[in-house]
Amino acid sequence: MCAQLIDGKEVANNIKNQLRGRIEALKKRGITPGLATVLVGDDPASATYVRSKAKACEKLGLYSEVVKKPAGIPQLELMAIVDRLNNDPKISGFLVQSPLPAPLDELAVTLAIKPEKDVDGFHPVNVGMMLIGTPGLLPCTPHGIIKLMEYYQIDPSGREVVIVGRSNIVGKPMAALLMQKQKMANATVTVAHSRTRNLAEVVRRADILIAAIGRPKFITADMIKEGAVVIDVGVNRVEDTNLEKGYRLVGDVDFDACFDKASYITPVPGGVGLMTIAMLMYNTVSAAENQNK
Ligand code: NDP
Repeated sequence: MCAQLIDGKEVANNIKNQLRGRIEALKKRGITPGLATVLVGDDPASATYVRSKAKACEKLGLYSEVVKKPAGIPQLELMAIVDRLNNDPKISGFLVQSPLPAPLDELAVTLAIKPEKDVDGFHPVNVGMMLIGTPGLLPCTPHGIIKLMEYYQIDPSGREVVIVGRSNIVGKPMAALLMQKQKMANATVTVAHSRTRNLAEVVRRADILIAAIGRPKFITADMIKEGAVVIDVGVNRVEDTNLEKGYRLVGDVDFDACFDKASYITPVPGGVGLMTIAMLMYNTVSAAENQNK
């Protein structure tokens, strides 16, 4: 068996094309959706993510603002930036790029963001709305994965989904979305993590496997069931001296080995990551619409 490649670029472009009409409609009313990103410190991966988000805004004709601050910024100054963005009418939504350098308090920042501008979908109000199955601003990566499955008509209803990883930004919200009593959900969900016993056995039960671990090629071919759908969220930098930048990106799944056994598989790069950005644009446009009802 040979897997069908899930093309994140195609699906992300499809989402962005659908947004164009909504953006035009807002602009006709004199409203330009705006996204601000706050980047603290000099983590190269965070800087790359922030640049891609600004570029995506530019391509869609959204207003965008990047606020850059050194790692030593006092908490109070960061909270003042959050307060300004909460009250800036040009900004429909914003995010503070994670991880924040120590000793900054990330939870305090998340709690201070107005839920209606929380385009990451990390504020407890939005997390709670998601859990009770009432649409609010959904977290971008898990929502993007639902959109990928929808596009390829992979219905999780009644199927065994195993999620490896229980972070607040991927694993937990992914489980919450897939267990809902609604379309593109109704799955039987297992969440595995570093304390899971017999992980390989648990993973082999999956009709749909979602890997969000942060360990290169952790999921090997012997761990997946023949015909499983494999969604790889991992983005890991591994050294590659043949490349000018000195590294390449690989996922949490051993792609080459699993390709022959899976029915569908996402590549890294070119899979889930592109959806995360597309869904951030989606949330920014939705936030602008909601604030201008
Ligand atoms: P976290 O580090 O927050 O969580 C990793 C999870 O993996 C934890 O729940 C951890 O278990 C689990 N884990 C770690 N080692 C093992 C192991 N040996 N066996 C089983 N479970 C294990 O990571 P994130 O959720 O933030 O991100 C995961 C990956 O996804 C990263 O590579 C990240 O870069 C990528 N990512 C990609 C995005 C995209 O848009 N493509 C967006 C967000 C993240 P425990 O809880 O027990 O410690």
